[in-house]
Amino acid sequence: MNSEIPTEEIVIIGAGVIGLSIAYELSRQGLSVTVLEKEKVGAGAVWASAGMLAPISEAKSEESELVDFALYSHSIYREFIESIEKISGLNCGFNDTGTLLIAMGKDDEGELEHLHEAQRSKGLSSAWLSQKEIFEIEPNLSGWVTSALLAENDYQVNSRALLIALAKSIIKLGGNIIEEAEVKTIIKFDEKLKSIKYISRDQEFYLQSKQVVICSGAWTNSISNSLFEVDIRPVKGQSIRLNGPNMLKHVIRTSDVYLVSRSNGELVVGGTVEEKGFDNSIQAGSIMDLLRNAWKVFPNIYEYEFRESTIGFRPAALNNLPLISQTNLDNTFVATGHFRHGILLAPGTAWAISEMLIKGITPDIVKPFGLEKHKVF
Ligand SMILES: Cc1cc2nc3c(=O)[nH]c(=O)nc-3n(C[C@H](O)[C@H](O)[C@H](O)COP(=O)(O)OP(=O)(O)OC[C@H]3O[C@@H](n4cnc5c(N)ncnc54)[C@H](O)[C@@H]3O)c2cc1C
Repeated sequence: MNSEIPTEEIVIIGAGVIGLSIAYELSRQGLSVTVLEKEKVGAGAVWASAGMLAPISEAKSEESELVDFALYSHSIYREFIESIEKISGLNCGFNDTGTLLIAMGKDDEGELEHLHEAQRSKGLSSAWLSQKEIFEIEPNLSGWVTSALLAENDYQVNSRALLIALAKSIIKLGGNIIEEAEVKTIIKFDEKLKSIKYISRDQEFYLQSKQVVICSGAWTNSISNSLFEVDIRPVKGQSIRLNGPNMLKHVIRTSDVYLVSRSNGELVVGGTVEEKGFDNSIQAGSIMDLLRNAWKVFPNIYEYEFRESTIGFRPAALNNLPLISQTNLDNTFVATGHFRHGILLAPGTAWAISEMLIKGITPDIVKPFGLEKHKVF
């Protein structure tokens, strides 16, 4: 290696929830990690996210390999949060009261029956509630609600708080996070990783690293060049943050909207799913739809304070499955394409990448998300 260029043990590209979870896991295992972030911690999709950790609510809509991986990640979430909170001294807003999947009429009930069947076939627990039973546990929902499915083992986390706690933990464990450092190229020589070129405040820098993990979310195409041929696209999502009394114990989901209430009085309403590339305009119609659908199930939002509307770009591959893999280049890995579930899949992804980097093995549970599986013929 060139002695004039600084050498790192592991470089992670991107300080989103995936990059920081991997950096945290590797730091926890005693490795020296540097994270390069083109803007600032949390500049990506994670800032718009609601933080639902809901593999049981998603059991029908997703591929079975993804459900298995989501259930695995969910199974280690509590320990993941406890260790981050212990090291950082910060609270991540983790809550395990579950999701209430709401039906407002016969069509919704038909959909929920299919979901209930899918959950049962996978041995996942959920319970049907009548309108009377719903009002016993959520008295502030509207009279439009007819019945519901309670997925009591779903969790939620405050994704912004989690990200800040992850960053603090990494630094406490001796890691390094460099903001405003945009990676431009991964330079190879003789099919081997040579160095990383990045730009910071209009200046060019080079770093050598023994191993690199690309976690650049929806922006991955700009640095992937010949390392792998998987196209990652941005899927725009808009969410809203309101402030008011904490009146909902569960995550509330209807067929059109979800509401995630936090103990600090924040209510997250989301989220749109739009194939519009990197369009960062906020549409009045999207905000209107989110608020109207939220008001229909929870009329009290009318009195809440409107705090912000946020856009995020979910990273998605053609098949909408994550890409968690070694690339075509030795010692260079990629973890992206987590689409609608990056917060949920973060601890599972961090564990899988640490197994690849440290032990050189790819765990079976992430084999469906390797480069080969993403090939377009
Ligand atoms: C409205 C909305 C609601 C959501 N709700 C949920 C939810 O409830 N539960 C759930 O599990 N998921 C949810 N998601 C999805 C989740 O937010 C994403 O899957 C997750 O944030 C992806 O994480 P990431 O780290 O891969 O990408 P990002 O969070 O986008 O982070 C990527 C980072 O890489 C940086 N970067 C990019 N290129 C470079 C470069 N060249 N050099 C250096 N840095 C670079 C970016 O600036 C960014 O900080 C939601 C998403 C949206 C938009």
